[in-house]
Amino acid sequence: MSKSPLQKLNGLLKFKDEYSPGAGFGTAIPMLEDLILNEHIVPDEKQIQISAVHPSDKKRIEPNTGEESTETPEQINNNWKTCSSLAELNEMIKDCRKCRVLAGNRKNLVFGSGNPNADIAVVGEAPGADEDEKGFPFVGRAGKLLTDILAAINFSRDEVYICNILKCRPPENRNPLPDEIFNCEPYLDKQLEIIKPKLILALGTFAAQTLLGTKEPLGKLRGRFHTYKNIKTMVTYHPAALLRNPNWKRPAWEDVKLFRKEYDSISARQ
Ligand code: URA
Repeated sequence: MSKSPLQKLNGLLKFKDEYSPGAGFGTAIPMLEDLILNEHIVPDEKQIQISAVHPSDKKRIEPNTGEESTETPEQINNNWKTCSSLAELNEMIKDCRKCRVLAGNRKNLVFGSGNPNADIAVVGEAPGADEDEKGFPFVGRAGKLLTDILAAINFSRDEVYICNILKCRPPENRNPLPDEIFNCEPYLDKQLEIIKPKLILALGTFAAQTLLGTKEPLGKLRGRFHTYKNIKTMVTYHPAALLRNPNWKRPAWEDVKLFRKEYDSISARQ
């Protein structure tokens, strides 16, 4: 009987110890690479939509008219700005209603998950239906691929910190609106200020352009390091995009190998 991709991955992960950081990729890694590149099925997920206003334009835009918004967002107590732990921050923003539509539709605010002292922060776009349901980031199909990608470069989900630009799910998984990014980005900045990661992996256009404050397309940003507040930041394709476009898996694999190499080099210096 043929094994499911998960069974194969579990088998391959038994060989994971062959990989010793700094020494290059062991024999198990090309097998994992093969699994990641070939086994995931392309789902009928959301199509990329081009936002009328760019995520790096930090203005509030009225979704219906496209005009700059004059509406003051519903304020939440600003005490969160001074908190010093992720748990405290989560507690303080969990009832955020700055984005009325997102707050009105959400089941859960998806704050983030993983190691609060992580060396690595992984930043995605926004929760989808699975994440909204469960309250954790990247737990659906794209999340499964992200877990596999991290495993292939010898990181477990528990040792990194995973979060998103938006903490609440946009209806129908539409793209985040500039207003929503404007409202939510300060929470991400605060999370990253508390975690102080050594490296950031930005997944997809929205994460990359928001963190780096640029309008450059993903194709130009990926594959090299940039800086977000002095933290080296690698840009690569979003796992959901990889599920739709298997041709991007090869370059994404190259990106994450570079990311691992940089992590090993930083660790060797410390
Ligand atoms: N896509 C994202 O960008 N984030 C998630 O948490 C899930 C899917």
